[in-house]
Amino acid sequence: MKSIPVIFLDRDGVINKPAKPHEYITSWPDFVILPGVYEALRLFHDNGYKIFIATNQRCISRGLASREQIDALHERMTEDFARNGCFVDGIFICPHGYDDDCDCRKPKPGLLLQAQKWLEDSEGVTVDKTQSWMIGDSKSDEEAGINYGVNTILIGGESSSVDDGMKHITANNILDSAVKILEGRN
Ligand SMILES: [Mg+2]
Ligand SMILES: [Zn+2]
Repeated sequence: MKSIPVIFLDRDGVINKPAKPHEYITSWPDFVILPGVYEALRLFHDNGYKIFIATNQRCISRGLASREQIDALHERMTEDFARNGCFVDGIFICPHGYDDDCDCRKPKPGLLLQAQKWLEDSEGVTVDKTQSWMIGDSKSDEEAGINYGVNTILIGGESSSVDDGMKHITANNILDSAVKILEGRN
């Protein structure tokens, strides 16, 4: 199977302004797109990357939002992206809580594996892990990327020193991430 480069993105803190601690972003009026997001998404798409969002939304398990509400929010987001010339290939959500023992809540790699399966089933291509990146603003995003086996960017943190042959670096935001990824390509 042919393999292609993929960007896996966390949502809160990467695409939109995060909620206050212990709060959640569950509706469009509260969804504030961060600076540089449109430009970064266009850069990734124009350079041949597939783009997937992988987001933990424990608010669903806690009953603070329904799955339908979160899907509706993402529909508004997707429409907003389209108006700004941006495209995301898929959105994968972990709706579970800490105690659900699921295999998708980051730092587990399940959401990334779901995206890979979707890519294989629907487009007949798979992930070129050496050229792919997980970008997030928390350690659990970085760990999910490491557990899955791709390069990682931790926004606003200190990157892992794990020696797995992949790159684990930091960036200031999503656009800075895109610039670093594209500059570092061989
Ligand atoms: Mg986040
Ligand atoms: Zn889960």
